[in-house]
Amino acid sequence: MFSVVESVALLGLRGDLVRVEVSLTRGLPAFVIVGLPDTSVREARERVRAAVVAAGFQWPQRRIVVNLAPAGVPKSGSWFDLPIALGILTAAGVFTADLCEGYLVVGELALSGSTASVPGVLSAAICARREGRQGLLVPEDNVAEAASVPGGKAVPVGTLTDLASGLPSPATVSSVPAPPIASSLPDMGDVAGQEFAKFGLQVAAAGGHHCLLLGEPGSGKTMLARRLPRLLPLLDENERLEASAVHSLAGELSGGLLYARPFRSPHHSVSAAALVGGSGVGGGGRRVRPGELSLAHNGVLFLDELGEFPASVLNMLREPLESGEVRIARFGVNVVLPARVWFVGAANPCPCGYDGSATAACICDMGALRRYQSRLGGPLRDRIDLTIPVTPVSPGQLLAFRSAPLSDQMAKDVAAARERQLERNGGILNAALGEAELERYAPLSEEASVLLRLCARRWSSRGLVSARKVARTIADLDGARDVTRQHMREAVAFRRCPGEDERFGARGGA
Ligand SMILES: [Zn+2]
Repeated sequence: MFSVVESVALLGLRGDLVRVEVSLTRGLPAFVIVGLPDTSVREARERVRAAVVAAGFQWPQRRIVVNLAPAGVPKSGSWFDLPIALGILTAAGVFTADLCEGYLVVGELALSGSTASVPGVLSAAICARREGRQGLLVPEDNVAEAASVPGGKAVPVGTLTDLASGLPSPATVSSVPAPPIASSLPDMGDVAGQEFAKFGLQVAAAGGHHCLLLGEPGSGKTMLARRLPRLLPLLDENERLEASAVHSLAGELSGGLLYARPFRSPHHSVSAAALVGGSGVGGGGRRVRPGELSLAHNGVLFLDELGEFPASVLNMLREPLESGEVRIARFGVNVVLPARVWFVGAANPCPCGYDGSATAACICDMGALRRYQSRLGGPLRDRIDLTIPVTPVSPGQLLAFRSAPLSDQMAKDVAAARERQLERNGGILNAALGEAELERYAPLSEEASVLLRLCARRWSSRGLVSARKVARTIADLDGARDVTRQHMREAVAFRRCPGEDERFGARGGA
């Protein structure tokens, strides 16, 4: 009276094969789960027993031991309910031993015997493909997600009784929604004027640079930021699976895979855990919850009104924005979630919003201005390569404006510049170059380095490195082999960070 059903243990995004072994022996009736289960898995006993009985099956009056192997891998969450119930009914001879052979089984059970959707199914589907299994047996609500990994099958289970007459037929791939086309994303051509800001975003897109949009209220910062995703190259298959797996883990992937690059814009009241992720209770157990930062993986994280975010929250972004990963402690081990994003901040130049403005006078006193700028510049200043000034367009300009498609051409240039970088830099974008690599891959012309030395007196060394990287990206957009004085001039113009250059923020200047 023994059975084995295969399932998956999740650690962060990674799914690993788990054997759910069930043995029924004579003796005092009991129900024990061993193999490093956490409380949420131990609670499966109550749900599984109730679901089996509610579905009309007889609960075996035996000593039931469930072993989740390998025992060294921690197991969490309610999604072992379904494999455990299947294992018990198979060991009891109700289901045939080969019922779900070749499939990995995940799913929660309700007391009524019906299945309930679980987060993280995409990671399980990726695991099934990697391990050469046919696919997944999942709750009906998870079927689109489970079927979205190319080549994988997904068998929907509505209630335990569905399985009494054999395995239901796998869902067809046509149940997965078709990918939306890129042209559904907003176009830069809808924005009047702002040539310099558009160019800045193009540079950020091409080189993988983080940037800050700085301008008075109503100058169009949000409108510009929302147009960044369309400048980025389409997700390749790996990027799509990885980004989608994060959304699956957060329980936010309702249909099939993500096709557009994510664009996340959390409000400044967001908690640190919601922004960078954490270990929390949800989905029937303690599990890793990806934050906005990981949900933006392979896409854009946009923080509007950056100056309103608490410094403690911004501080937590420092490390991940550099490394492209978030580390979350869980079960005493560090779970790593991916977080490679284009970070875009937006802020007013001062508390009242009109410092340096031509439309209204700034009413901030010098002390308030300094405090604001140091907060803005504070924790993230050295992570941001480009500060992009956004100035409002005049009513005359707006009246004369006719929108015309622009993003597709910009995206083409971005793609070409990316190609150049990846080939020259050995697979990394300019933003990720270290100082030594900059020497090697971005040599400056004599004139360019004179210009940079002039700036060096006012800037931090980090600011200089940023300017060099940005100049390299501008040269790549230009198709140039070397960084010239003109490229450096443009890069310097994007380096007017608050606090970085004393001319910035001076009354009437900037
Ligand atoms: Zn002001």
